[in-house]
Amino acid sequence: MTLNDITSNLGSFELIDQATSKDAEAGGSAYDWQPTHWLKFPVPESYDLSSPPWIRPEQVPMSFVGINVVDVENGKILPSMTVKIKSGKIQSISKSTVEHMQEKDWQSVRCQGLYLSPGLIDVHTHFTASPGQPNGQLVPASETQTALAATHVLKGMLWRGFTTVRDVGGANRHYKNATEQWLIPGPRIFQGGPVMSQTGGHGDDGADSDKPITGCCGSTGSGRDSVVVDGVEECTRAARKMMRAGADHIKICSSGGVASPTDKLDSEQFTVAEIKAICDVVRMMKGTLVTAHCFTSPAARNAIEGGIGGIEHGHLLDDDTLKLMAKKGVHLTPTLIVQELLSKPPYQAMIPPQSREKLKLVIDGGYKVIKRAHELGVNIGFGTDCFGSMQNVQLSEFDLRKRVLSSDVVLRHATVNGAKILGMQGKLGVIQEGAFADLLLLSANPLEDVGIFNEPHKFVKGIVKDGRVVRSEIRDLRVEVPLV
Ligand SMILES: [Zn+2]
Ligand SMILES: [Zn+2]
Repeated sequence: MTLNDITSNLGSFELIDQATSKDAEAGGSAYDWQPTHWLKFPVPESYDLSSPPWIRPEQVPMSFVGINVVDVENGKILPSMTVKIKSGKIQSISKSTVEHMQEKDWQSVRCQGLYLSPGLIDVHTHFTASPGQPNGQLVPASETQTALAATHVLKGMLWRGFTTVRDVGGANRHYKNATEQWLIPGPRIFQGGPVMSQTGGHGDDGADSDKPITGCCGSTGSGRDSVVVDGVEECTRAARKMMRAGADHIKICSSGGVASPTDKLDSEQFTVAEIKAICDVVRMMKGTLVTAHCFTSPAARNAIEGGIGGIEHGHLLDDDTLKLMAKKGVHLTPTLIVQELLSKPPYQAMIPPQSREKLKLVIDGGYKVIKRAHELGVNIGFGTDCFGSMQNVQLSEFDLRKRVLSSDVVLRHATVNGAKILGMQGKLGVIQEGAFADLLLLSANPLEDVGIFNEPHKFVKGIVKDGRVVRSEIRDLRVEVPLV
């Protein structure tokens, strides 16, 4: 066969017919928006130099018709409702009528049989602790490498249904701005910069070059995940610098951790005076709260006396401390999945053998404390603490919590309770007028089984953040920003 024969059999290339493509049908909406990647000299004088070229046009106003709204606060379903979203917010919620399917200026989505849940909130994440390092270990990486890897992690979180996350060690306001502007697709971010630790505390990587990873609130040793300070003066200055850098909250270490050999689990870290100094700064500079990595009751008591607003982990807290937390409105964010993961291969290799006893203690304690804290009326947030190569297991926290609490309670952890911790009551974690349009469309009722979130291919049919669709299997619901 000659070259001529071959080329004539292959056929010439063909172009997409733009006039009949789906994009053309939508006509000027956010769906067919394309960023400008080309300009010709001379550039028009009116060209806006200061507008970030990745800013997307307004969302397409959407109307979910016939959907069962999950009222997480009251633990019930509002059947067959119409929920309208516009400009990234929920505009109205009403009983569905046939007319809702053909209203001018609204893209109607047939949702009969589906459930509409608020997007999920994980208030204990470390998305700058990147996966894909040798043996899953956390190793220092450049800031650029960390930021680029975080784009993958953040897409994954949104894909799993987490429309909001709080970072408690490592992230900064640039990540928050990037997902807010859709420069990178990802959840809404609340961040507090690095963790504050005393010398020899849980966040101090410097004392021992052989120190293994900390086993929770994972520090990569990059120097960006923690700041080490001692004394009231240093604490005040460091906290002010963090607030100046745009922190939403500040996280401190007030007890030891699981994996670190020199930093004992029951060690009490920071004096009450130091903690109070940090809390004063956050209160006066209008941050949300100070939250403390803390496993034990004596350390939690110090932190509460100093004025903190949240306890992370808290797996060994006693009833008296939990009662005090309920009384003072101090939030609790247990993190069950990270401890379970570290107790089994392949992640078990990440902690030294001598730490396994400590790990068993905090695993058992976690289930007990989450149940008791609920009974005693503590506001409990949904936290995972998944770092490095654990990120993809984030949704399993639902399965672990439902071992001891009912599904409606666990769903509140991951929605309204999280919103309280972030100071975003009525705006996040609920489906009500004026709240952000962060929504999940499900084919089953999560109040009956919260475990459906951990079967995303089976039950999660659509994900919307900020009014923009990022995942959809629903015919009328087009994806605007794909998570690939
Ligand atoms: Zn921690
Ligand atoms: Zn953590």
